[in-house]
Amino acid sequence: MAEKLLQVSGVSKHFGGFTALAGVSLDIAQGERFGLIGPNGSGKTTLINCISGLLRNESGKIVFAQKEISGLAAYQRTRLGIARSFQVPRPFTTMSVLENLLVPSAYVLHLKDSEGETMAMEILKSMGLADKAQVRASQLSQVELRKLELARAMAAKPRLLISDEAMAGLAGNEVDEVLEILFELNAKGITIIMIEHIMQAVMRFSQRVVCLDAGKIICEGTPASIVENPDVQKAYLGA
Ligand code: ADP
Ligand code: MG
Repeated sequence: MAEKLLQVSGVSKHFGGFTALAGVSLDIAQGERFGLIGPNGSGKTTLINCISGLLRNESGKIVFAQKEISGLAAYQRTRLGIARSFQVPRPFTTMSVLENLLVPSAYVLHLKDSEGETMAMEILKSMGLADKAQVRASQLSQVELRKLELARAMAAKPRLLISDEAMAGLAGNEVDEVLEILFELNAKGITIIMIEHIMQAVMRFSQRVVCLDAGKIICEGTPASIVENPDVQKAYLGA
């Protein structure tokens, strides 16, 4: 196995008396395409929030590029190379598409305006959004908003990109477009965690898949082994 980029061990999280994560452990290799699935409410976003620093884990360790990061603020983790997109897109709606990317490049990478703009335009080009650079984010279609969400994450120059349901609500051909973008980013060396409800997409994309249910990992394996796993089928059917 390639070098481990992310190591999550025994991570737990409660909301009041409710257990959202109950001792989750997983390792992700540098360059891997990793799929995280599980029914609604199984803890996928909570796990991503703990990794990206939006939430603090209560127990366990999170090591990124050999460094324990559990105690770091979200912006510090972004600087180390962890970026994520949000399940509900969070653009600055009154800013242009380009300006949305200049925020992370200025505040996270401390790039000068001209450098930030060059990098932002390259990212927009790679996402097929270059012709929308001057358009206000509020004017974008659903698929364009999803791409902007990924572009904003990429503007922090991450090593690890966590995509939280970037394909939700998209039509089939749009799912393919976003999938293609994620494949291209991975080919450039970005490690990717894909959280997705669209099973076909996650199965096509991932080299390895983990299924969460009620805050616990119930199964890990190849896409083919996961779809056939009775525990996974049971979790999704709620039986
Ligand atoms: P998933 O992303 O797998 O759908 P989440 O991680 O969003 O699941 O949520 C897991 C569980 O934790 C859900 O039952 C959800 O209602 C609960 N939860 C998530 N965030 C909070 C919060 N900030 N406060 C209280 N409960 C939360
Ligand atoms: Mg979620």
